[in-house]
Amino acid sequence: MQISPANFIGFSTSSKGQKTFQSFNPILNQEMEHLFFEATQDEIDATMQLAKKAFPILAQTTGKSRAVFLREIAFLLETKRAALIHQYSLESGLNAERGNVELNRTIWQLETFARTIEQENWDLLQQDEADLARLPNPKPGFKKVAFPLGPFVVFGASNFPFAYSTVGGDTASALAAGCPVIVKSHPMHAGTSNLVAQLVIEAARKTGMPDGTFSHLNAIDFEVGTQLVLHPNTKAVGFTGSFAGGMALQKLAQQRDEPIPVFAEMGSLNPIVILPEAMQQDGEKIALQITNSITQSAGQFCTKPGLLFVLRDNQLDNFLNELKTNFAAVEPQCMLHPNIWKRYNHGRVTISSQENVETSIEVKTEKPNFGTPQISQTDGKTFQQNQKLQEEVFGPHSLLIVCEDISEMQYCIQSLSGQLTASIFTSAEEMKSHSDILFDLQQIAGRIILNGVPTGVEVCDSMHHGGPFPATTDSRFTAVGKDAIWRFLRPISFQNFK
Ligand code: NAP
Repeated sequence: MQISPANFIGFSTSSKGQKTFQSFNPILNQEMEHLFFEATQDEIDATMQLAKKAFPILAQTTGKSRAVFLREIAFLLETKRAALIHQYSLESGLNAERGNVELNRTIWQLETFARTIEQENWDLLQQDEADLARLPNPKPGFKKVAFPLGPFVVFGASNFPFAYSTVGGDTASALAAGCPVIVKSHPMHAGTSNLVAQLVIEAARKTGMPDGTFSHLNAIDFEVGTQLVLHPNTKAVGFTGSFAGGMALQKLAQQRDEPIPVFAEMGSLNPIVILPEAMQQDGEKIALQITNSITQSAGQFCTKPGLLFVLRDNQLDNFLNELKTNFAAVEPQCMLHPNIWKRYNHGRVTISSQENVETSIEVKTEKPNFGTPQISQTDGKTFQQNQKLQEEVFGPHSLLIVCEDISEMQYCIQSLSGQLTASIFTSAEEMKSHSDILFDLQQIAGRIILNGVPTGVEVCDSMHHGGPFPATTDSRFTAVGKDAIWRFLRPISFQNFK
């Protein structure tokens, strides 16, 4: 497979722009060889006109035929696995093992949506039979059916070049729903994205999907993404990335003459609460689980635990010593790209330079783009008073909050904003006397984990990957599992139709 420098406007390629850019190899700390042409305003417009033309055709294809399309993408990803993984590792610094896991998940997601939409009446939401004999008035028959929103723009995150990017969950669920997809390629894995896009387009051609079902535009600047969100033919936006990025796009979408939904999946602190009985019984095991969860893949997960709540009791020193021993054995890992690395260093230094915050564990590394694993520590009162301590530090960092007692711990939890996940370590008996803490966690999180860590998101039907703002812009929807499709469908009631 060859990486192309061009933008893909449906089935056509286009490189009209003057501006080019390269992606980056973070391990070698140098730019990659391939050039990419940033999309021009004309190319953006041509893409959106084509998407508008494709929409009524795609929306009227059957679920069964779109399932064939999704399966063909999955098949092509599998046949090109080696080339994809190779490019993925060069551009992300993530190893082949992680790449294979992520690609498996991406393929599985496509198959999940294919299975969903090939069912008879998958889009039938409700039905009311007519009752023409009803008195005093006859009742008409109703059928409530799901209908696709229209052309949908996808922004992927750098930490999942397969599963949350070009043909990740957002693209797969939107195509399944019958929405044409326009991907704003992530500049830090532009080559991987380009290869994946070629396979999606090949699958669309082979399975008879209309031209414009899928387009892929290169961008190194925010301008391309901005223009895509503002374009009148865009009907919805899917974003996975930072809080700043998600909010910028959300604001743009709300300023349009026709505001459109932005499904932004953003960062999260994923608090972990350790109650005293669990600490006493399983402190060592918990310390190891937490270390792995904070440091694996250089902590570059939206579900990485960023806050650890513990009590100041006679178990605390043991727990800290266990964490220190485990962290000492961690090899610092390469981060995704220099910007993420710089943002990480800025974030961890900002946290540890706050008043009453100290760095209690640190595994220093001098290698460029390699993240220093770190635990900062503070007390419950400081945590409640300083909002800065509630900002995501994306990378292998976590803040340990030592609370004087359970009620202080509870105040801290109640001060938290929306989260993707929250975890609680406790015993069954202990849980009974602290059911109020569980309820506090329900008010802030989209997924609650008992005696476990939040990383390692299972892709299954009952998974909810979302949460109250600022974790996402709409807590009612999930970005993982087959229910992700409901973000891209709206109900229509048909009255008096059979
Ligand atoms: P990012 O910097 O926000 O980038 C995501 C995409 O949005 C990129 O294509 C980026 O373009 C674009 N973008 C960002 N700000 C923009 C703006 N103001 N206008 C237009 N486009 C904009 O995120 P990232 O660093 O790649 O990913 C890491 C973040 O993603 C972390 O915060 C992590 O927690 C989050 N994440 C969340 C989930 C979830 O499911 N909630 C999953 C994975 C990751 P440029 O690259 O050109 O800047």
